[in-house]
Amino acid sequence: MYLKGIELAGFKSFADRTALEFGRGITAVVGPNGSGKSNISDGIRWVLGEQSAKSLRGGNMQDVIFAGSDARKAVNFGEVSITFDNSDKTLPLDFTEVTVTRRVHRSGESEYLINKQPCRLKDITELFMDTGIGKEAYSIIGQGRIEEILSTRSEDRRGIFEEASGIVKYKARKKEAQKKLEDTEANLLRINDLVVELE
Ligand code: ATP
Repeated sequence: MYLKGIELAGFKSFADRTALEFGRGITAVVGPNGSGKSNISDGIRWVLGEQSAKSLRGGNMQDVIFAGSDARKAVNFGEVSITFDNSDKTLPLDFTEVTVTRRVHRSGESEYLINKQPCRLKDITELFMDTGIGKEAYSIIGQGRIEEILSTRSEDRRGIFEEASGIVKYKARKKEAQKKLEDTEANLLRINDLVVELE
């Protein structure tokens, strides 16, 4: 699996729909300071579900929408799509290409799509679990991140190895199952109380 391309529209400095294609192997994005290089990697993290405006270098989530320039009016929504070649079926979907889209409107409304079908953020998070691609995973190493990884607590570092070894989704499912079990136990207790009251 590899990242085939990204399309940005109304996202940060990309007012017009802009499509970038990546080949296999290494791609370098070069350009003058402030020309929007980091906005591309911000776009990738954003579409994968980044919820922290600060980590996208903004004050709030609407700051990712093109805010206008001397020559252009601001726009009302921002959208990013990233497309993966999935011919090796790394992603558990029956498609050779998978496109994930996120859209946000100035009103605050936001949408996620997988291959143009509306979905939940949870579906995107689960799709990329254990692939190393999720927003917190190791495929995107921002400036200063290596230092952060080395100086972080050993439990946090362990998360990176867990993602690489492919056990994160099982841990997430275990947590969900434990929560269901706890809720069911609480319900059972409540039912028992009612039964006692009725007897
Ligand atoms: P450097 O090489 O200095 O790190 P860069 O090429 O990575 O720069 P970015 O940080 O990606 O550049 O882009 C910064 C530019 O994006 C700035 O000109 C900023 O005004 C513009 N920008 C960021 N958010 C928006 C927005 N919401 N609307 C319009 N322009 C924006």
